[in-house]
Amino acid sequence: ETYEWARKMAVDALEYDDDEGANPAGALEEILEAPERLKDLDLDAFAEELERQAFGNKSITLYDIRAELNCRYKDLRTSFTSATPDEIFDMLTKESPETFYIGKMVTATVIGITRKKPQGEQLDQANPVRNDETALWQCPFCLKNDFPELSDVWNHFDAGACCGQATGVKLRLDNGVSGYIHIKNLSDKHVSNPEERVGIGQLIHCRIMKIDVERFSVDSTSKSSDLADKNHEWR
Ligand SMILES: [Zn+2]
Repeated sequence: ETYEWARKMAVDALEYDDDEGANPAGALEEILEAPERLKDLDLDAFAEELERQAFGNKSITLYDIRAELNCRYKDLRTSFTSATPDEIFDMLTKESPETFYIGKMVTATVIGITRKKPQGEQLDQANPVRNDETALWQCPFCLKNDFPELSDVWNHFDAGACCGQATGVKLRLDNGVSGYIHIKNLSDKHVSNPEERVGIGQLIHCRIMKIDVERFSVDSTSKSSDLADKNHEWR
């Protein structure tokens, strides 16, 4: 019985004309998708009409039905609306655009050095150099510099023991976000071996350059000029 009224309410709210042979079940579905339309329905007038047709006083029930329909809509809305990547980022990091933004100065822990292994042709064209002072040879990629003979450098390649040229520094920020400093952004001076600058576990100051909310990672810079920001490029 109650369901019948819900359908009738839906039909009335959508102002379907009974003569047009509207589909009440369809009307109910439309209301579930847009129950704010029920607000337009005058429930008291509807109850009066029911009473006039000898259905008794049903106004309380009608308000209950309307509340239930609206409620269903709320449930639907929470299950169908997914958070945006920005919202998820803020939820999980407990950050907001006011607390975490491009240009922000942060402290971060160095957790690793990223490297790119030399590939076939690079290895063929490698040009190891000998240090005049130590008389030892150096790998041009990983910069290991204690090879007694040139052939030892080639063996190092052949054994796949070369971890390759450093490309940057991996970081962990205090809020759990991972960070990266490209080798060119480590210092205003040229750096070929980041390990001469930073050690694993070291806490360093850097400035956020780019935020990737989907990957929970940031690009940052630790150049003195960026940290000082004399030209106010970073706010
Ligand atoms: Zn090497």
